[in-house]
Amino acid sequence: MTRVQASAEVVVRAGKERSLQRRHPWLYAGAIERVIGQPASGETVAIVDRAANFLAWAAWSPQSTIRARVWSFDPQAVIDQAWFNQRIARAAQRRQHLLARTDAVRLVFGEADGLPGLIVDRYADQLVVQCLAAGVAAQRERIVESLVAATACQHVYERSDAAVRAREGLPATSGVLLGSTPSAPIEIHEDGLRYGVDIVHGHKTGCYLDQRDNRLLVGNEVARLRALREGAQIEVLNTFAYTGGFSLAALAAGAHRAVTVDSSAEALALARLNGQRNGFADERLELEQSDVFAYLTRAAQAAQRFDVIVVDPPKFAPSSAHVERAARAYKEINRKALALLRPGGALLTFSCSGAIDVDLFQKIVASAVIDARVDCTLVRRLGAGDDHPMAMTHPEGEYLKGLLLRRD
Ligand code: SAH
Repeated sequence: MTRVQASAEVVVRAGKERSLQRRHPWLYAGAIERVIGQPASGETVAIVDRAANFLAWAAWSPQSTIRARVWSFDPQAVIDQAWFNQRIARAAQRRQHLLARTDAVRLVFGEADGLPGLIVDRYADQLVVQCLAAGVAAQRERIVESLVAATACQHVYERSDAAVRAREGLPATSGVLLGSTPSAPIEIHEDGLRYGVDIVHGHKTGCYLDQRDNRLLVGNEVARLRALREGAQIEVLNTFAYTGGFSLAALAAGAHRAVTVDSSAEALALARLNGQRNGFADERLELEQSDVFAYLTRAAQAAQRFDVIVVDPPKFAPSSAHVERAARAYKEINRKALALLRPGGALLTFSCSGAIDVDLFQKIVASAVIDARVDCTLVRRLGAGDDHPMAMTHPEGEYLKGLLLRRD
């Protein structure tokens, strides 16, 4: 076996090799018996068992409790430019079919694409990269080269300013890696709509691509109710709306108005521009800068009612330590939203907290339904689009879950 590419070996404690043998891509600090050599942050190391049997090639993260992240379980693999070219080309290939619908896709999604800690989003001809672990941070130049080879995009921007970088001992960093900085929001197209994406100041890399399929579902609910109610005006409430993606999908499907609530003035300013971009009259896209909890209380007092309601809050549970408090917040927000839902209407409710799994989320929403004293059925469970897949060996990769409920 060629060990030349790794100057260091990481020996796993007895019994702790099992998870790697089951192809889980993380090695926790507590599973390590000793390290032979002095690997630098992000360096490729060989992981071996106590009998020196090869287990994996991995990137060393000296500051993280996830001390190493696996590049490959193949002893013959060489983690070089060609290897990155191949992984990134495969990731791009997996998204090829989406380009018929949109020019904005998540091109690389970390562990699911065999590139732990790497996120790459494509917005038209602009790529936005997040390096969230020491390994991909150390391999950044190779990654950019592979991305250019796979996509021919000439503009690459880095948004490695997510809080998780601190857990890797990496500073926040953002800026141009290739080409130039866009001077205005980039226009992308998705399912017949146009959106502006601010890759420099926006959340994450600028846009919530993971909700693409659910935006279509909101449109479907609007269309369903319009057909059912023969000409009645369909009113939509989009909470935690960010730049208004769900509102645009609702208006495109013929909603009379979409009340769009967010606490961020910048996000709502982009939402307004997005409405104009698609030719929707300003009065149909009603913007409310407010805390959502406070807005829902006011709306209930004013006896407002809606036909379709979207609840897509930020991560209420950043870790498992926050689950209980987060559960209370999810219940409260859903109970308040359900109280505004007209009979026959639909609620699409989401959680992007990895620490709350789909079964728990469903229980939380069920208790909100009971407390709101409404009768609802669960029509389907929702998740992220297929450019955000999950490795079967890495269930931690699943984060976005949602429920589509209809009120009787
Ligand atoms: N639904 C959006 C993404 C939501 S991200 C989309 O599909 O694009 C969460 C949003 O909630 C952010 O825009 C943030 O500004 C907003 N937010 C967070 N806490 C809030 C609160 N308490 N009240 C109102 N908005 C809030």
